[in-house]
Amino acid sequence: MRTRITRLFTFEAAHRLEWHAGRCKRLHGHHYQLEVTLAGTLDDNGVIMDFDEMDALVTEELISRWDHEYLNDILSNPTAERLAGEAWLALEPLFEVRGVKMESLRLWETPRSMVELLAQ
Ligand SMILES: [Zn+2]
Repeated sequence: MRTRITRLFTFEAAHRLEWHAGRCKRLHGHHYQLEVTLAGTLDDNGVIMDFDEMDALVTEELISRWDHEYLNDILSNPTAERLAGEAWLALEPLFEVRGVKMESLRLWETPRSMVELLAQ
């Protein structure tokens, strides 16, 4: 039996994609949803990680930096794929030092469009 936990985060941000032939070339915004999934063994309290601790880590490291920002100022060509990769690099070490494996990360850019990254 394996146990995984997932926490959902949201943020609003603007971006534009210079290379895009269509409407995404223009400045626009998204209501992003970020799902972070962790796996590990249960501690003495019966949890992989306290959801409140997970919330604080992700909010401080990522959400507070990206929410209501112009993402092109943070990352060049901020596609959903590149943002998800940046989020992975920022978050994985935070969990790793606490002995918890980040197993997957999903970034929903729209209600119908999502990028998923999986641990090797
Ligand atoms: Zn967009």
